[in-house]
Amino acid sequence: MIEIKNLTKVFQTEEVETKALNEVSITINQGEFVTIMGPSGSGKSTLLNIVGLLDSATGGSYQLLNQEMIGIKEQEKSKVRKQNIGFVFQNFNLIDELSVYDNIELPLIYNNIAASERKIKVKAMAERLGISHRLKHYPQQLSGGQQQRVAVARALINDPKIILADEPTGNLDSKNGNEVMELLTDLHAQGATILMVTHSNYDASFSQKTIFMKDGIILSEKNNSKNVDVLIS
Ligand code: ADP
Ligand code: MG
Repeated sequence: MIEIKNLTKVFQTEEVETKALNEVSITINQGEFVTIMGPSGSGKSTLLNIVGLLDSATGGSYQLLNQEMIGIKEQEKSKVRKQNIGFVFQNFNLIDELSVYDNIELPLIYNNIAASERKIKVKAMAERLGISHRLKHYPQQLSGGQQQRVAVARALINDPKIILADEPTGNLDSKNGNEVMELLTDLHAQGATILMVTHSNYDASFSQKTIFMKDGIILSEKNNSKNVDVLIS
């Protein structure tokens, strides 16, 4: 489903050249929930951004849903991204000028979904995430936990096959963080493929596999026993 081979990313600024990713190879199967951990500056966000087609690689190959993504046209990239990927960011990335309703609806507009269907979908999603009473509010009027729910709602509204989450609980207290993790766990149980970056061992324990990165290199991989137990019992 996600096949990354020898992926390299070099950032070139006037003075410095940074190799953010150095020959990274990862395979993520359909329905798998994988975590990436590693110190700040390891290249975790860079990797997620490339997987999410928000940034391009310098070298290597990247197949998504059996299609090579390196070198494809921007227009095609954007289509694949809008149809298949839901991205959840640490800082929520909501549009302050738009209401909660409008924020959640945005991906549906990008995908040319009819207005009547958009209305039904946004309402159902808000219900599912417990934010129905907040649809007319603006992001700044919400708590951090509610903002992240809106961000998750927006990421899920198109039923993406792949969910990418970059430190989704990083700006949340433990209660709201746990709720977001429960949400991701539910989505995983429903068949979503999830790639999440986190600094929290607790969050990582919800996933099936943890990949450790440092300085753009994958150091090791470990299967998370909690989930193995679930599979065995
Ligand atoms: P992490 O998410 O693991 O903290 P990042 O992927 O954000 O790490 O960054 C990896 C490295 O790439 C860091 O050294 C960072 O400074 C550098 N980097 C990230 N984005 C850019 C950019 N747009 N321009 C230049 N350097 C960047
Ligand atoms: Mg990061």
